[in-house]
Amino acid sequence: MLKIDKLEVAYGAIQAVKGVSLEVRAGEVVTIIGANGAGKSSLLRCIAGLEPAAGGSIRIADQDCTRLAPHKRVGLGVAMSPEGRGVFPDQTVRENLLLGAYARRQDKAGVQRAIEREFERFPRLREREAQLAGTLSGGEQQMLAISRALMSEPRLLLLDEPSLGLAPLIIKDIFKAIRQLRESGLTILLVEQMAKQALGVADRAYVLETGCITLQGSGAELLNDPKVKAAYLGSH
Ligand code: ATP
Repeated sequence: MLKIDKLEVAYGAIQAVKGVSLEVRAGEVVTIIGANGAGKSSLLRCIAGLEPAAGGSIRIADQDCTRLAPHKRVGLGVAMSPEGRGVFPDQTVRENLLLGAYARRQDKAGVQRAIEREFERFPRLREREAQLAGTLSGGEQQMLAISRALMSEPRLLLLDEPSLGLAPLIIKDIFKAIRQLRESGLTILLVEQMAKQALGVADRAYVLETGCITLQGSGAELLNDPKVKAAYLGSH
């Protein structure tokens, strides 16, 4: 589904991603864990086409997408739920969802069904359907960001730190939704600092440190890896 090879992302002289190679196969949930500033968001944004690749290549569904415009990647089935949620604050919940379905706006019945499906996934969103997104709580905005990404019916969902800044109970809800998406067969690339939950839901995982992959394995292997335990799980 996704294959990236020696990918580099740079901001002027700062190299945020330094030759990362990784693969996400259809139906897998793959997690990237890493500390602040490790380059996780830069990597995801580059996969979505929001940052240019300074080197290397990105293949999505067997097509070279390294220089493809973001909306064309949406056409190939990629959707991203960005860090910091990135909902449109002055639009209502429903309007945000409709914007997520922009590429398929002609399919009115399909879009309505998708809205209903997202309201079932996150009943809070139904209750707040007409509320401006900027006035939602952090957790509700995160739910909306995920639902908005799902409105395009992606084959590959990119999730950037969905648990960031949320209370433990809300984090539980978000991971429950990720598990359900996984069971439905969706392919997911999840970037997280909440290493324990993220590795628990992952088929495979990578550790990103200052722009380089330093470890990889199954979610269970990395959960039990002494270096991961010491650096990311707060226990030895
Ligand atoms: P966090 O979890 O804190 O969001 P991250 O792993 O997602 O971190 P990135 O946001 O990708 O890391 O940042 C990687 C490096 O690139 C950091 O050193 C950051 O300061 C730098 N960086 C990110 N965006 C920009 C930008 N627009 N201009 C300059 N430097 C940037």
